[in-house]
Amino acid sequence: NSFEHLGLSADLLKAVTEAGYETPTPIQRQAIPAVLQGRDVLGIAQTGTGKTASFVLPMLDVLAQGRTKARMPRSLIIEPTRELAAQVADNFEIYGKHHKLSMALLIGGVSFADQEAKLERGVDVLIATPGRLLDHFERGKLMLNGVSIFVVDEADRMMDMGFIPDVERIFKLLPSKSQTLFFSATMPKAIKRLTDQFLNDPKTIEV
Ligand code: AMP
Repeated sequence: NSFEHLGLSADLLKAVTEAGYETPTPIQRQAIPAVLQGRDVLGIAQTGTGKTASFVLPMLDVLAQGRTKARMPRSLIIEPTRELAAQVADNFEIYGKHHKLSMALLIGGVSFADQEAKLERGVDVLIATPGRLLDHFERGKLMLNGVSIFVVDEADRMMDMGFIPDVERIFKLLPSKSQTLFFSATMPKAIKRLTDQFLNDPKTIEV
């Protein structure tokens, strides 16, 4: 039961050690190898289980193995609130400190100009709330057809906030072959329908 056996790179093992983590949590143990194999994941897990690292860590390695200089975002993480998006961005910086990947945080309450300038320079990873992401898309400044990993986090909270139509729209804007990592603390009917429609033979992990 150690991070060494999950298939992560030496750079990530170093970042994990520096973060003070000694052993992977149950969701990390199960999700990390599945993501590295390219599988879709359905994680039924609450906050506090270590789920953020379970998708950010393998995503960093998958992206690092691809092209180095991204012109288009290759990964998209959506979160129901600005605060959660900002927290995931903080984690991305901590876990990704030995990777040379760029990230843009697309949340409301901040001017479009700075976010657009960043998009124009080219980023590997987008961390966004659904509304602001779609606003950028409608302004014509966002290319989503290079996204190969899509993370939907806190799906049941998205539902409570009325974001399911936005999430569906985002799914339809992404390449159909992209890998989806989908997390929800509970699985109400509307969420189950969404996963049935958009996930491809997911590895289901319940913690
Ligand atoms: P999360 O469920 O992703 O919100 O993570 C909850 C907290 O657990 C965060 O403060 C993480 O920094 C911490 N954490 C995540 N994975 C581990 C781990 N393997 N060992 C110790 N702490 C961890």
